[in-house]
Amino acid sequence: MTDFFIGFIIHVVFAIFIKEAFMSQSLFGLLPDKTPVTSYKISSGTLEARILDYGASLQGLDYLGIPLILSHPNIEGYLEDTTYQGALVGRNAGRISEGKLIIDGHVHILAQNNKSCNLHGGGKGFDKQLWTVKGHRADSIELGYHSLDGEEGFPGAVDITVCYTIKGSALHINYSASCTKTTLINPTQHTYFNLSGTKSSILNHVVRIDADSFAALGEDFAPLTPTLVEGTPFDFKSPKAVGRDISQPQPQLQLAGGYDHPFFLSTKAPQITAHSPESGITLNISTDRSAVIFYTGNFLKDRFLHRQGLCFETQECSNACFHPSLARGAVFTEPDKPYTQHTVWEFSKI
Ligand code: BGC
Repeated sequence: MTDFFIGFIIHVVFAIFIKEAFMSQSLFGLLPDKTPVTSYKISSGTLEARILDYGASLQGLDYLGIPLILSHPNIEGYLEDTTYQGALVGRNAGRISEGKLIIDGHVHILAQNNKSCNLHGGGKGFDKQLWTVKGHRADSIELGYHSLDGEEGFPGAVDITVCYTIKGSALHINYSASCTKTTLINPTQHTYFNLSGTKSSILNHVVRIDADSFAALGEDFAPLTPTLVEGTPFDFKSPKAVGRDISQPQPQLQLAGGYDHPFFLSTKAPQITAHSPESGITLNISTDRSAVIFYTGNFLKDRFLHRQGLCFETQECSNACFHPSLARGAVFTEPDKPYTQHTVWEFSKI
């Protein structure tokens, strides 16, 4: 009996140790209604991520012990946040002109949370929702969210799932979603990378984007016109420092205060590379989406430094529902054709 009891205790202690060491989760904070927000760790040893059930947000990403993304240290930061730190944004990532969604001739008026535009799904988009954890293992986590029919003006109920999985030095992000009515499902991950260890500016990061064209923005900042990159500061086909051309007196750079534009990607992965000469760390991004919004943190301030982080928001070009010339494939998701996205962030160090 005693041996059995000791064996049982050892088993329990070992199980707790394993869970803490490899599958740890901890209380991150409380929402105003006292609902707990939990932080979940996933890791391969070389790459470690911390994910919140609030916004399915990436709150930490360390490679070889070096922090690579910006974040808030507490839940208050996320509740007040207007910069979408590490959040999974949706239903639609980016801006939709006039907050107007026209499907089969039917006009849906969306929440206009950025002047006249709908930005990142509205004032209470996916980033401001508590997601349900469907599974958590040492190297992966799956979260789901049910978005109601009419939420922020979008038609149809949507069930979305995101799975973050670490394999070696890569983070795989798999999205899948289904809807009850034809609607727009175009989410992205809004992490701000700083491959130098998060403290300095990203202007020295060397970036390559395999894209022949980008979308020039209209006065409302929403994507408007496909434009060739050749001969413009938007040519990142060969690697160049972010800061090299960012201050050129080019109308699109001046309008956005830097880069904040969709680029139309080639299908040859990895389509995007970013490298910090300071840390020697490189990020390669492969995606099955046709566009990326390359955003240089032009609006970062207060708690963050101007241009302290870079976002690579893989998606279908935002505003394609308003300007069909921006579409590179199906714009809408239908009830019998689920949405999927697969994007991989792979790190290495010289
Ligand atoms: C947008 C920026 C916006 C930022 C939110 C980016 O994805 O393109 O214009 O200000 O998100 O802080």
